[in-house]
Amino acid sequence: MTPNTDLNIPLFERAKALIPGGVNSPVRAFKAVGGTPRFVKRAQGAYFWDANDQRFIDYIGSWGPMILGHGHPAVLEAVQSAALEGFSFGAPTEREVELAEEILGLVPSMEMIRLVSSGTEAGMSAIRLARGATGRSKFIKFEGCYHGHADSLLVKAGSGLATFGNATSAGVPPEVVQHTIVLEYNNVAQLEEAFALHGKELACVMIEPIAGNMNLVRASVPFMKRCRELCTEHGALLVLDEVMTGFRVALGSAQSVYAKSIPGFKPDLTVLGKVIGGGMPLAAFGGPRAIMEHLAPLGGVYQAGTLSGNPVATACGLATLREIKKPGFFDALSARTRSLVDGLAAAAAAEGVPFSTDCEGGMFGFFLMPELPQNYAQVLQTDSARFNQLFHGLLDRGVYIAPALYEAGFVSAAHTADDIAATVAAAREVFKTL
Ligand SMILES: *Cc1c(COP(=O)(O)O)cnc(C)c1O
Repeated sequence: MTPNTDLNIPLFERAKALIPGGVNSPVRAFKAVGGTPRFVKRAQGAYFWDANDQRFIDYIGSWGPMILGHGHPAVLEAVQSAALEGFSFGAPTEREVELAEEILGLVPSMEMIRLVSSGTEAGMSAIRLARGATGRSKFIKFEGCYHGHADSLLVKAGSGLATFGNATSAGVPPEVVQHTIVLEYNNVAQLEEAFALHGKELACVMIEPIAGNMNLVRASVPFMKRCRELCTEHGALLVLDEVMTGFRVALGSAQSVYAKSIPGFKPDLTVLGKVIGGGMPLAAFGGPRAIMEHLAPLGGVYQAGTLSGNPVATACGLATLREIKKPGFFDALSARTRSLVDGLAAAAAAEGVPFSTDCEGGMFGFFLMPELPQNYAQVLQTDSARFNQLFHGLLDRGVYIAPALYEAGFVSAAHTADDIAATVAAAREVFKTL
């Protein structure tokens, strides 16, 4: 494709004149990797087509929601019939109850749930609820975990545990982040120190159990166990942000994966999004009845939304969850994802490229370094120039991975063994050039 004939270029120019950076969410702009973003015309199964009608094997799947692939017939059917019945009412519907029943049936740590429209909203509301339920202000988050763009969450660590974090966005006043304590992921000693200093003032610890916003880095079992124990000892809530991992890494979500190694493990609050909407704007947060009853209209913690529990979105989410609940779904998805990362690792080894990789269910990550990193500082040591070369090499060969090295990848049920083989072959060609 020469620049003269690439139809993505004039579209990007038009977009940039009207929309800051030409995009409605920053990472779509290809700023990290350079080049022109692909404007998607349509998608089906494991593929999407751009403005040039070039086909790509899609490994972002809308950043996680499209676990069945695009245009799954049962989901399309559900969305079409829901749309005919009405788009939005601002009054309760039976489908909200059905979706609540479905989710609570699969994630038993939650007894009650509230539906919202985005992961940001869900995470922000979970923190307000944790603060309201405990009567405390401070909370802990970890460097490299993303919980949406609420003000109090856009923070990086200060110079020491006793100092406040620094806002990572302009427009966030220091006063707004003064209660956010930012710690290193997987650092048990630092976590213990923070609890020793602030334990009685902590409303919650918020964590991505398998972090997908610094590529893919898992919380180690001892670290997660310590998070749980310290929260319990100090009366703080453990909030698992499963917006990405929920119904993506296992049917019971990441908490079920940790419960295999930590007997009885459960979070106090769970934040969900992405897969539960199947590609529609839908997210949620939930937990035990005694905590959830602090929410308005029962309790004093205010939370609301015009489009919350939207009837078309709930139809999409319900149809998606009903498909992934079918016997064998996650076994097949996990095997397919495993075959991709094993294939990539073998191709990298054959070409002498340092490579490490991990996956869980339909989520994967890889690093152009020999050892898997354990925290954000280690992730930052990745050679971004090499990653960008890999990204563009794959893109030229019709394989679309996230346009930034800090993002996990996603395999859907629609990806075939042939798609995986084609991806691995493309990667091997690119590895040769690195
Ligand atoms: C995507 C994501 C969010 C934010 O969700 P939005 O719907 O984009 O607001 C929050 N937490 C995690 C872990 C995510 O991956």
